[in-house]
Amino acid sequence: MYLVLLGPPGAGKGTQAKRLSEELGLPHISTGDILRQNVKDGSALGKQAKDIMEKGLLVPDELVAAMLDERFSNPDIKNGFILDGYPRTLSQAKTLDDILARKKISVDLVVYLNTSDDVIIKRLTGRLVCSKCGANFHVLNMPPKVAGLCDKCQGALYQRSDDNEVTVRKRLEVYKNEVASLIKYYNQQKKLHTLNADLDARQVLEQISLLCAKV
Ligand code: AMP
Repeated sequence: MYLVLLGPPGAGKGTQAKRLSEELGLPHISTGDILRQNVKDGSALGKQAKDIMEKGLLVPDELVAAMLDERFSNPDIKNGFILDGYPRTLSQAKTLDDILARKKISVDLVVYLNTSDDVIIKRLTGRLVCSKCGANFHVLNMPPKVAGLCDKCQGALYQRSDDNEVTVRKRLEVYKNEVASLIKYYNQQKKLHTLNADLDARQVLEQISLLCAKV
């Protein structure tokens, strides 16, 4: 199943995608994660993306599309994927359809994780990420058992440089400018389902799993 998770930063796309990936045995593809890895590795793409990401702006379409096209050449997507962070604009949605059409596949289901601004700001400014396995924690809602260390793999936890309030508000603004056209696009294709993602992550996962079971 080819599943797209849409939603503002902080909607819980990454958290849900990781759990669904285990549940369904499908790869979790996050454009943000791939970009951050490129920044860490100091690749040409990472060098171009670093400042843009720190400002909360979008990395140019052609760079992200090329990166995604390369990721899709991995045969692990033959039974499906869970895509997180792409598309973010109508143009990216069309690009995604084109790239997949060349591989004779198409998006089956789009889940929009609708989330209120207050919840987003609280979630992101308190978020901690494991540098080794990518697991997410929260200073208040889901603190690690040992401060600064991942419960699962003992990797060091860090705060993303774009998870400060100023950048989060910019990321939200960028997101809101684009989301209406994406919603319209996937509604017209009758692929869109909207869920209330202010709810507890477990409840949201149950609802997504139900939708997936119907595909
Ligand atoms: P995320 O981890 O999805 O919150 O993405 C972090 C940052 O990576 C974003 O604020 C953008 O700068 C960049 N990014 C991730 N996905 C995309 C995309 N589909 N198009 C453009 N930029 C992206």
